[in-house]
Amino acid sequence: MTAQKKITVTDTILRDAHQSLLATRMRTEDMLPICDKLDRVGYWSLEVWGGATFDACVRFLKEDPWERLRQLKAALPNTRLQMLLRGQNLLGYRHYSDDVVEAFCARAAANGIDVFRIFDAMNDVRNLETAIRAVKKTGKHAQGTIAYTTSPVHTVELFVEQARAMRDMGVDSIAIKDMAGLLTPFATGDLVRALKAEIDLPVFIHSHDTAGVASMCQLKAIENGADHIDTAISSMAWGTSHPGTESMVAALRGTPYDTGLDLELLQEIGLYFYAVRKKYHQFESEFTGVDTRVQVNQVPGGMISNLANQLKEQGALHRMDEVLAEIPKVRKDLGYPPLVTPTSQIVGTQAFFNVLAGERYKTITTEVKYYLQGRYGKAPAPVCEHLRFQAIGSEEVIECRPADLIAPELDKLRKEVGALAKSEEDVLTYAMFPDIGRKFLEEREAGTLQPEVLLPIPGTAAAPAQGGVPTEFVIDVHGETYRVDITGVGVKGEGKRHFYLSIDGMPEEVVFEPLNAFVGAGGSQRKQASAPGDVSTTMPGNVVDVLVAVGDAVKAGQTVLVSEAMKMETEIQAPIAGTVKAIHVAKGDRVNPGEVLIEIEG
Ligand code: MN
Repeated sequence: MTAQKKITVTDTILRDAHQSLLATRMRTEDMLPICDKLDRVGYWSLEVWGGATFDACVRFLKEDPWERLRQLKAALPNTRLQMLLRGQNLLGYRHYSDDVVEAFCARAAANGIDVFRIFDAMNDVRNLETAIRAVKKTGKHAQGTIAYTTSPVHTVELFVEQARAMRDMGVDSIAIKDMAGLLTPFATGDLVRALKAEIDLPVFIHSHDTAGVASMCQLKAIENGADHIDTAISSMAWGTSHPGTESMVAALRGTPYDTGLDLELLQEIGLYFYAVRKKYHQFESEFTGVDTRVQVNQVPGGMISNLANQLKEQGALHRMDEVLAEIPKVRKDLGYPPLVTPTSQIVGTQAFFNVLAGERYKTITTEVKYYLQGRYGKAPAPVCEHLRFQAIGSEEVIECRPADLIAPELDKLRKEVGALAKSEEDVLTYAMFPDIGRKFLEEREAGTLQPEVLLPIPGTAAAPAQGGVPTEFVIDVHGETYRVDITGVGVKGEGKRHFYLSIDGMPEEVVFEPLNAFVGAGGSQRKQASAPGDVSTTMPGNVVDVLVAVGDAVKAGQTVLVSEAMKMETEIQAPIAGTVKAIHVAKGDRVNPGEVLIEIEG
């Protein structure tokens, strides 16, 4: 044992806990009533903002994320507020210009953030530079983050080198961010010991309990000199979330590491969030518990539930094991990036395409092309050159910091959003999410913001308010008779619908997509591709852009259409050279595999 000292604690209940368990659906109205108690516990900080919360606020909850931050700041005057920031990506999914990064950090600090945990999905420290500098300028705490992963190149020495580089940039502390739950206790001890020996900064440990070993990791971290742990209040802890706050407080109580937190107050807070968790039961996937598979396939829990949803949408859930086996192969081809937003999406979706298309890299997503061009930064290990050539040919690969190639864009964004933005914060909301951000601002202006509907808690309520009268069925299964009530929620023709299924009085929510939306010609009226000049997609998705018009001359291989499936864009090329004879799609249309979208006459 080395240093013995009081351990400080961050509770993730208002950010990562519900992001990991409830698809980030907790609302400000669930947070404010308990803030008085949270503020009295004695936490070093509360993680309240960033990560996916900003996206979820704007996309689903129709809440202004900046307003949430201001309200939390007012309700938590004695506790530091912390956020998770994706370096040069901020809270969006692309790299921003430096002036946007600077403005974002300045506004986040002014609205209440005290601690910025800054990471990059590639662990390319050049992508942290601007954010760290901007946070330091505000006088707030800048935390440099190691996105922990395992691979042949990810050694203790590599992580220490990264920490050294971040120290030299002026960070106030180092976080080990184990987003997937890959850390094991003794590996944690080795890493923390090496960091503490080299770098004279507090070390924070953030580890998801996906594989059921995170509390052991924290204890080994503490024994080896770590200063700080991240926990979640017990009613929303463990599994894909974090070790329980009360458990860790109890474990350390009466030792030199005693956190000093008020265990009785924590009990009351735990009970409160027990009820909140129930309220959002519909967002809890079946993959929120302990899942030791991560130690084998290295796929984070959150990514597994995303993939499960995507596969379900394509009616291909039975191919989950194939996709899980493909992910490490794609990751290797891409030089072993850690799997965290946005690389988890990039790798996961490409693996998904590789399996469903029946041929590896038959379709290469735009994001994988960008990645191979170096536009996300430097990969931890060399990428597969054969794949790179297949994806981008002999196009030049970026060697510099990717944001060096992005011209200042804040003014441009400000002009684009125009009078819809009432503040600099609104401009930044739009910058993060051009489509849903604009929609949010428009709806706010029109007074039509509508948060998504919550389903009642099973066993506590009658038929859902929105669902109308249940339809009753009596069914026989293997000689036993059941009464089934089905109540529909959702709008006809909207695609996915929520149904409320009750078997012998036990209500359950189910979601399904009407079959006719997916059986090609029947749903869309488009015919099936047969001629050599017919342009179609291999995946169901939405059309992002149509790049040609009727009468245009096109070359074989020219991109004529951009489609999107699962947040990833794919370019669709002309199969032959010729003239565009007809176009059967427009931006925003839903399309199915094999349908004729554009006809080219050779
Ligand atoms: Mn996390």
